[in-house]
Formats: sequence, C-alpha cells, structure tokens
Amino acid sequence: MNPFFNIDERIEKASDKALELCKEQFSHIDEITEYNQNKVQKAFIDNRISETNFVSSTGYGYGDLGRDTLDKVWAQVFCAEDALVRHNFTCGTHTLAVALFGVLRPGDNMLCVTGTPYDTIHNVIGIKGSEMGSLKDFGVNYSEVALKNDKPDLEAISNAVSDDTTMVYIQRSRGYELRPSLKVEEIGEIVKTVKAKNPNVIVMVDNCYGEFVQKQEPCEVGADLIAGSLIKNAGGGIARTGGYIAGRHDLVEKCAYRLTTPGLGKEVGATLGMNRELYMGLFYAPHTVGEALKSAVYISALYESFGYDVTPKYNEERADIVQSLGLENEESLVAFCQGVQSGSVIDSYLLPEPWDMPGYDSKVVMAAGAFTLGSSIELSADAPIREPFYAWIQGGLNFHSAKTCALLAAQQMLNKGLLKNGI
Ligand SMILES: *Cc1c(COP(=O)(O)O)cnc(C)c1O
Repeated sequence: MNPFFNIDERIEKASDKALELCKEQFSHIDEITEYNQNKVQKAFIDNRISETNFVSSTGYGYGDLGRDTLDKVWAQVFCAEDALVRHNFTCGTHTLAVALFGVLRPGDNMLCVTGTPYDTIHNVIGIKGSEMGSLKDFGVNYSEVALKNDKPDLEAISNAVSDDTTMVYIQRSRGYELRPSLKVEEIGEIVKTVKAKNPNVIVMVDNCYGEFVQKQEPCEVGADLIAGSLIKNAGGGIARTGGYIAGRHDLVEKCAYRLTTPGLGKEVGATLGMNRELYMGLFYAPHTVGEALKSAVYISALYESFGYDVTPKYNEERADIVQSLGLENEESLVAFCQGVQSGSVIDSYLLPEPWDMPGYDSKVVMAAGAFTLGSSIELSADAPIREPFYAWIQGGLNFHSAKTCALLAAQQMLNKGLLKNGI
C-alpha cells in the first residue's frame, strides 16, 4: 500500500504486473541511457568544460567562451560538424523555421517525405495558403510524399527526388499522429535513397522528441541538418527555453546568419547567465530521456492491461518519447488528465477542463504541471476531444513520480466508474 496516496488495491496489483512486464524494456533503456550518458560525458571532457564556461555575457556577447564551447560539445554529441545552441530560440517551431529560412532560397524546392509535417510547421511552409512571411510567400516551393502503410515510401521518394530538389525534410517523431515514429536506421535508408538520386540534396530532420532515445542520431546516418527544442528531450528538463540546430558547417553558418544577421552569425548573442543550465541540461538529457521512456513503457503496459488501445505497446522498440492511449470517450480523457494533474508537483490543485485552444478545431483537455511552462519532457498529457478519443502523453522527469501520476489517473477513472476490465 502506498502510504502517501490512496490507490485502490486492484490498481496496485495491475501496476505490479505491469512492472513485471516492463523489466526487459527497462534494462534495454538503461543500456541506451548509459551509452548516451558516456557519449555526453566524453564530449564535456574532450572540450575541457570548467566553471569559466558558465560565465555570463551581456550586450553583444562577443567572445562568449561558454556559448562557443557549448556549440562544440553539442556538435560532438550529435556527430555533427557544427552546432548552434541558443536560449534565444523561442520554441521548436521557431528553431525549425530558422533552419528552413536559413538554408532555402527563392525558387528552391522543399520535399517532405514523411507525409504532412507537424501542425505548427504548416504556417512556416505556407501549406494552407500563402501565410504572410511563410516560405511560400518567399517563393520556396513545397511538395510532399505520403507515408505508405505508416512507413516511408522509398520508391515514391526516389521518384519524387529530381535534380531540382533542394531539400528533403524528414519528421522523426510521430507528433500527434498514430503512425510509428521513425527509427534512425529508417532515416538512414531515406538518406541513401535520396542521395542516390541527387547527392546535392540537403536532408533535414525535425529531431523533436527523438534525441537520446536511440544510440545513434540522424547525422550519423547522413542527415545534413537537424533541429529541436530544449524544452523537450535535449534540454534534460533543466533548460527553461531554447533550441538547437546541428549539422554540416556551411548550413549551420547560414542558420546563424538567419538567427542574427549575415556577417555576424554566431559571433553575437549575450547568454545572460544561461550557459550553466544549458550545459547541465545536456548533461542530464540522456538520463531524463531514459526516465521519460520508462514512464511511457510503464503507462503503456498498465493501460493495456486495463483493456485500452495503446501505441506503442510496452515491448515495442521506440524512436521517440510519445505514448498514446485510446481512452474511448470524453469522460475518460478528462478524468485521466485530471488524475495526472493531481499528481504533478506543480499546480496539483488545478482541475483541467476541456477548452477551445487557439489553432485547434476541437476542444482540448491537458494536464501540464511543470517547472517550465509547456515543457513536454516533464510529464504532460493532452487530448483533443474528438474521435478516436486518444490522449497523448510524453515526458516524466523521473519514473517514480510519473508512475504515481499514472496510478492517480487510473484511480480518478475508477472513482468515476470509467475504468475498464471489471475494475
Ligand atoms: C514539438 C514539436 C515541434 C514544435 O515544437 P514547439 O516547441 O511546440 O514549437 C515540431 N515538430 C515535432 C515533431 C514536435 O514534436
């Protein structure tokens, strides 16, 4: 019995069984965590990180040693020639937009080969129309290749790439779709296919939610440019804002020219005391991602045992930290999110309710008790109130507290008479 939280005995029993099922995956996750932790550790040591790297700069930020060295550490960890890690990136979408605008020019052709990208990127590309300031507005052409049976369609990709293709864009994570996320090996297959058709194509990967989930990162299998958010995996739950771009030196430089200005590039940008937490975040990231993965695997096993549809399943190989649960109706989605929220160390007393969120076409309910607002490496759950009534769950700074949140969610569903499988 849990001395601090009221959890029904039947739920506790189901939890013990779920944990038993998770054992093999957990030791697999531990092995990946240790590999990635050593990778990061070695990069810190090779770059002789010391307290001087944490010194804060103001004004132009010329010669900020901590900032410049963080780029080098990052490049080593992600097996890239160069990197641009900055707190000035406001979110993942902004970081991806800087990379796209940094590299693409009027008349260029961008080809997304993993179906329609993540919602917030639509406006950046100008998919829905010619949004003010979108790539389309600047004369960059866009087309896409759909997935086939939820997998990259290598044949169709090969047919779509021509001498005129400037960039091939890949989204590693499933985002808010039910398709599986892309394994790094699959990204490698795409790169091979694309480069065989046209070796000059720039392959860019949206790496959000994917960092440190596997031993390899996309640049190791030939990706030219990757980008992601620091309030997801790569910030380790420590970074309070920011993003990163890594890849080929010439491309990263162009991105730096876009973020600041041509000529100044990476030379400017005051760090205002942020260096220490960005280093610390990177140091924590492999471990934190491991905890988030264990949380996802456990939640998958537990809720499958209650009779719900879960993707991925607990014993499936993962390529991102996202877990989805088919909770079947609105009441269950709301009860689940309220239960998760009640176990959050921040804002536990708030009661999530469905609301009309800007940019969504249905109501959304979300649980997000986090030290960093909107952080999704911290345990968060959100669910659009529409068929097929799935909740998307990601993160968990540590497994034990995430586990309790999952149990409280089941308890909340039980209290409302909603939990399945005769409980
Ligand atoms: C989160 C995410 C983004 C956008 O990041 P924001 O920080 O929400 O702007 C883009 N692509 C994928 C796959 C994501 O998961």
